Amino acid sequence: MTTDITKIFGSKVFNEDCMREGLASDTYRELQKTIQEGKPLNPKIANAVAHAMKEWALSQGATHYTHWFQPMTGVTAEKHDGFINPIEGGKVRLTFSGKELIKGEPDASSFPNGGLRATFEARGYTAWDPTSYAFIKDNILCIPTAFCSYTGHALDKKTPLLRSMEAINTQALRILKLFGNEEVTSVKTTVGPEQEYFLVDKEYYSKRKDLIYTGRTLFGAPCPKGQEMEDHYFGTIKSRVQAFMKDLNEQLWELGVSAKTEHNEVAPAQHELAPVFSTTNIATDHNQLTMELIQRIAKKHDMVALLHEKPFEGINGSGKHNNWSISTNTGKNLLEPGDTPYENAQFLLFLAAIIKAVDEHQDLLRLSVASAGNDHRLGANEAPPAIISVFLGDELNAVLEAIINETPYDGAEHKLMKIGASVLPKLPLDTTDRNRTSPFAFTGNKFEFRMPGSNSSISGCNFVINTVVADELRQFADALEGTLDFEATLHDLIKNTLKHHKRIIFNGNGYDDSWIEEAEKRGLLNLHTTPDALPYFIHEENIELFERMHVLDREEMMSRYEITMEEYTKIINIEALTMINMAKKEILPAATKYAKQLSETILSQKSVWEDIETTYESQTLKEVSKQIQEGYRACQALEEKAECLHRIEDFEKAAFFVRDEILSAMDGLRKPCDLLENLVDEALWPFPTYGKLLFGI
Ligand code: ADP
Ligand code: MG
Repeated sequence: MTTDITKIFGSKVFNEDCMREGLASDTYRELQKTIQEGKPLNPKIANAVAHAMKEWALSQGATHYTHWFQPMTGVTAEKHDGFINPIEGGKVRLTFSGKELIKGEPDASSFPNGGLRATFEARGYTAWDPTSYAFIKDNILCIPTAFCSYTGHALDKKTPLLRSMEAINTQALRILKLFGNEEVTSVKTTVGPEQEYFLVDKEYYSKRKDLIYTGRTLFGAPCPKGQEMEDHYFGTIKSRVQAFMKDLNEQLWELGVSAKTEHNEVAPAQHELAPVFSTTNIATDHNQLTMELIQRIAKKHDMVALLHEKPFEGINGSGKHNNWSISTNTGKNLLEPGDTPYENAQFLLFLAAIIKAVDEHQDLLRLSVASAGNDHRLGANEAPPAIISVFLGDELNAVLEAIINETPYDGAEHKLMKIGASVLPKLPLDTTDRNRTSPFAFTGNKFEFRMPGSNSSISGCNFVINTVVADELRQFADALEGTLDFEATLHDLIKNTLKHHKRIIFNGNGYDDSWIEEAEKRGLLNLHTTPDALPYFIHEENIELFERMHVLDREEMMSRYEITMEEYTKIINIEALTMINMAKKEILPAATKYAKQLSETILSQKSVWEDIETTYESQTLKEVSKQIQEGYRACQALEEKAECLHRIEDFEKAAFFVRDEILSAMDGLRKPCDLLENLVDEALWPFPTYGKLLFGI
């Protein structure tokens, strides 16, 4: 049976059609206005909206509703409430009020809050984000919400994102007005996140404690074949995976997620799914749903999806390219060069703002993607380096050089690049020019931020990008609004901005070691690890920036800093404890069993041969015993460090201790254990190896 995609698309979403059908026309218009302007819902119409939503949800088989939110844990949270309300006579009525729609009060005391909620006021509240449609998942009506403390402090990943969208809307509108775009009333950023993931067989997965507890392999010798044949990328999709993808697509489509492309990625067992881009908050909600469904549907197909940034050593990890742009309610993409000189000048101004923002806020962009998992990817020649730079491509770069140097642009038209004046030529953009090694690449009409990890919420990097760009637009608008000679000021502004910030532009190979040296000479930041990056978040100028743009206040920033540092420590602590457990209970006992078998063989050989020193059995036994002792010592060393870590109370000191002491002790344990894997009889090895995990489907 074929599926009519147009029929199933959005069938589980309370979208505009449902609203129009279920609401009186004036209520519908009022709600539309709320959605378009991104304003809170008027309580007067809330009851009507809630009623329509409930009726629609019941007709779809829903029994409960939930305020669906994104706490700082990075996964979505939901608490289900039934629609049922007991009435007299032992009966029930199904109700859902406007109050229940607008605001929820989850007892959320066990979500990470970094000290924001005093214990005497442990409640939080959730508030509907009407710009993101409600949907039905597993017979639950899910209402996308933001999550705050009673004092109004953001406790989630969504609130700062919504605030940052407001900031960029305000500032971009100021700029657009200066260019005479009176018809534009709102500006939104758009995002298309490309989601990478691995699929492994559920049976193999369930035998590996490291995958179960940490999502990545903490042990594992390389198998004879890796990704060197380059035969997986865009290769034929295996039938089992194909069946999973079909299921996944259909369920995503039902939820209104426009899953569009799917293909095999570079590494064996690695895949990618990309949706058509949408408004940033919706793209963020949809990406959370996508991650959830990838995991859930994989299980249905007896597989497990690994969203971790680096599930396998020696094999490419997974990222989430964040394609980002800005567009107007009139449908114009502001990062698309236009046809007229004026449109091009406007494009160049936005471009200059972004270049300046990236250069001035390298620290924030870097830390917005910092996590224990992502530390394995960045700078490891499979993902962009940890150094932030901007790729523009040769053609656009030549245009900018011509502006900076006031020389004729060396393109086909040989025109002097005088901004604003009618001589500005049509900008030639080669969108095929793709430099895969750049962290922040212009790809024709959007920027592709390639540093985010596969596992993280995209709200983090997007609220940072939105905020830093909004702040630059604010400065530009300040400079331009007061000027008497708009064109001259505009020209100088673009020229000087590019001149001062061109060090951030790099069109070469980001994987090359020489780039690291070059970047250092240019004074660019190179923050290797999460604890190197995160402290920049609370630098005074960054606190001032986020406060100025009304995205986060000082307390919220302090709390987020603490939460993310602690998260890093907790993740690696669990990894360390898992390694100790696996080494002591599985790896060393298996190797000892093998050593025993070998020594028994050697003993029996002794009666036959005189010189058994050089036999396979003796030599192997020696090596196995040596690695067992190494492993034992390394395990003890790691245990000692893990105990030290438990005694450190200060969250910053703990994170630095993890970075400096725990990680190297983990490496120290992995080495002898991986050597043992290559020595010990496969039949005795306690868990499936890389070969099975990577090629087992
Ligand atoms: P790649 O070649 O990088 O793999 P894909 O086609 O897989 O490119 O992904 C490109 C992503 O960029 C898609 O999700 C697409 O919808 C998104 N995209 C395209 N235009 C825009 C835009 N204006 N704003 C945000 N994202 C966009
Ligand atoms: Mg991409």
